[in-house]
Amino acid sequence: MKQLLLLAGLVVGLAACQTTTTENAAYANPKGYQTENIFILTYDGLRWQEMFNGADSNYFRYRDFVADSTEMVTRFWDSDTLVSREKLLPFFWQVVAKQGQLYGNRRFGNHVDNANPYWFSYPGYNEILTGYPDTAVNSNDKVYNQNITVLEFLNRQPDLQGKVAAFGSWDVFPYIINDQRSGIPVNAGYAKATGDGLSDRETLLNELQETVPGHWGSVRMDAFTHHFAMEYIKKNKPRVVFISYGETDDFAHDGDYDRYLCSAYYTDAMIRQLWEYCQSTPQYKGKTTFLLTTDHGRGDNKLEDWKHHGKSIEGSYEMWLGILGPDTQALGEVKTPGNYYQKQVAKTVAELMGFDFAENPAMGEILKEMLAKK
Ligand SMILES: [Zn+2]
Repeated sequence: MKQLLLLAGLVVGLAACQTTTTENAAYANPKGYQTENIFILTYDGLRWQEMFNGADSNYFRYRDFVADSTEMVTRFWDSDTLVSREKLLPFFWQVVAKQGQLYGNRRFGNHVDNANPYWFSYPGYNEILTGYPDTAVNSNDKVYNQNITVLEFLNRQPDLQGKVAAFGSWDVFPYIINDQRSGIPVNAGYAKATGDGLSDRETLLNELQETVPGHWGSVRMDAFTHHFAMEYIKKNKPRVVFISYGETDDFAHDGDYDRYLCSAYYTDAMIRQLWEYCQSTPQYKGKTTFLLTTDHGRGDNKLEDWKHHGKSIEGSYEMWLGILGPDTQALGEVKTPGNYYQKQVAKTVAELMGFDFAENPAMGEILKEMLAKK
């Protein structure tokens, strides 16, 4: 009996070993970069003003914008901008700005802009993911994208097939990524975790999502998006991941500056959790690049402009861009003048995974500054 148990133990042990080996099969980056996994993480409509200056206390005076200004001052404000921005976005300022690169502080003439002329979500995500602005993509309607995204392009590479996944709080992502054509699983809006062998956490998330009142019809709370993504990543170990956090945009449209700030802060913590998970997991540790950005900016000109974006809102093409990973020099906050565009992300992402993505002549060039280590 003892021997039988021992044998059973051995078989289980071997099976476990095999699973681990399969999951962590090495990826030979075709261009020799250290990056073997890439995560594109977006904050919908988070302004560069909050990214680089922290919370704007001018808005605290308005009861319409902020319910409890004392709480906001305590949590997110300091007379020193450098302290203030770190209180709001600690992961960005403690980790990305120390080990990676952050672009878009216009105070130093460092500009990151939309190249598309619309300055709202679908055209912005299309530009991030396809690498060029397309005037045919000019609404937020649920229309399947005719353009090929970098996610779809990478999913076509033999070594990456089935290792690409996307998650979003907004229910338009299945269309933007064209899940039907691309075959990429997109868990967005109020979609549940599906498939065999759901984890306990996935089962609970599915239940909670049905019983916690939603705040908006087409955008769920980011905690659901994040934890659905975390569970999927732990289970399936995808090499290419897209996650779009959406609350910041919707709280801003609602005019809730306090919730917009809280949401920015919680998302920062979720991104930290994801980074720390990656640094504790063999497939991802030291081999994963995070590309961090937004789909558009928001206004700053008139008192109410922070709530809005789009063509009629001055400056809402102004955005920011960050990167953190093994092929990127630790330049921190980039203070040299320059002009960068959202359309440059897609080619940069493909390059870091070792591929040339060239679908359209209007595509933005690779951000060479991000690949300085090579
Ligand atoms: Zn919006």
